[in-house]
Amino acid sequence: MDRRTFLEESALLAGGVLLGRVPAVEAAAEAPMIGIQAGAVSFVDEGTDKVLDGLQELAGINTLFLATFTYGRGIGGRQPRGSPLPDHGRQEYDDNFRGGNFATPHPQYYRNTAIAPEKAPDHPGYDVIADVLPAAHRRQMKVICWFEDVLRRDVPGFDKAVEIDINGKPSTVGCHRNPNTRNFWLGLVEDYLRSYDVDGLMWGSERQGPLDNALGANHGGLTAGGGSACFCQYCLEAARRDGINSDRAREGFLQLGRLVAAIRGGQKPADGAFVSFWRVLVRYPEVLGWERLWNEALNDTYREMYAKAHSIAPAKGIGWHIWHNNSFSPFYRAEQDYGEFSKHSDFLKVVMYNLCGGERLAQYVRNVRGSLFADLTPEQALDFTYSVQQYREQPLDRIPLEGLSADYVLRETRRAVAGVAQRVKIWPGIDIDIPTGASNKKTQPEDVYQAVKAAFQGGAHGVLLSRKYSEMRLANLRGAGRAIRELRPG
Ligand SMILES: [Zn+2]
Repeated sequence: MDRRTFLEESALLAGGVLLGRVPAVEAAAEAPMIGIQAGAVSFVDEGTDKVLDGLQELAGINTLFLATFTYGRGIGGRQPRGSPLPDHGRQEYDDNFRGGNFATPHPQYYRNTAIAPEKAPDHPGYDVIADVLPAAHRRQMKVICWFEDVLRRDVPGFDKAVEIDINGKPSTVGCHRNPNTRNFWLGLVEDYLRSYDVDGLMWGSERQGPLDNALGANHGGLTAGGGSACFCQYCLEAARRDGINSDRAREGFLQLGRLVAAIRGGQKPADGAFVSFWRVLVRYPEVLGWERLWNEALNDTYREMYAKAHSIAPAKGIGWHIWHNNSFSPFYRAEQDYGEFSKHSDFLKVVMYNLCGGERLAQYVRNVRGSLFADLTPEQALDFTYSVQQYREQPLDRIPLEGLSADYVLRETRRAVAGVAQRVKIWPGIDIDIPTGASNKKTQPEDVYQAVKAAFQGGAHGVLLSRKYSEMRLANLRGAGRAIRELRPG
């Protein structure tokens, strides 16, 4: 336990005597945090007062996680075409969504980055924080800026921040070690905290290291977590400092890439997939070293954002969205160390989307059966996953249709609460109407009710309804409200 953690925990033990360093989100934490993620489009489409009144009435929402920066469709914009629009908001697809900063970027905070701080052109003249913050505070609702590691290739200056792949080619994602990337996130932290009286910040990065990516050990597409990188000048220098031979790392990744390509192409190595993989790893432990280097750059990003936020606004909280892959891949899970997170987090939103979780878990199993676990049948690969991930659900043919149960939410919440220091809040991410395949599980009000109840049974300090209000049906939000009313009678 570091000195500051000790001081903060001592302060709490002494009956909540504040040393001026305990985050406000904690000081006011008697009432559970009931949060929802919402993007600018909802306030523009439906009217800010109407949205806020509705959220309070339907689900007892007391904290808004405003999607203030993203170029992605997961948390910004309306439903993308192909998914039905919900029973509120404009009944029209926003095919021209671009994204960017949905508040107002202040250029003085971006002097140390090449990445242009673009104001999202989607709602000209509209600043989502300036609009929502006063209306929320009038209602005693908190506002947390929610921003994520999703940029577009054509953002000016982003080419000077991207990862360099194994072949020396620029990728489409930022290198966590590149100062242009790091300073861009630090600029956003400073901008949001100095320009607005918001109540906290949450950032998320749904990416993983080069080894996990080589195996395709994730749900979604095979490249959803990124590629086998990074070989940029900053990462090569970090490897040199650590005594990791980058040529051998590159050769190891090339061999691993050839092995996985052969397996995905239908070949079966004479010694099987697992032994062949382990042989590469033993011969080229630099591959594992590269995985560590990648994660250290991400963890340094968390650390620096936390330090920056606390240097500006020590009473406000900053925390992180933990990618859903944490529920599926034991490799990614091992790298999300709640104890380590405690050193630089005020809260964690651990994604526990149980309803789309079945479809996603099945995707994960398909992906790893094309690489490391090709020796196993699909059911064996799923059974192995359940065993090492410490939860157990339905067979493979059922999970996409039925989703994962509330018991999964309960177990994952308990694990997170047990893993973090006492001062760190656990706010499970609960899914409402996240799009799934046509015949797969769709959210029902009772599902949301059960998932929210399970989170609190597991010891959660709050829940965060996800991914965005603009994709949720109102009856399903009422399901959350029912669970929350039982928790807080009256
Ligand atoms: Zn790099």
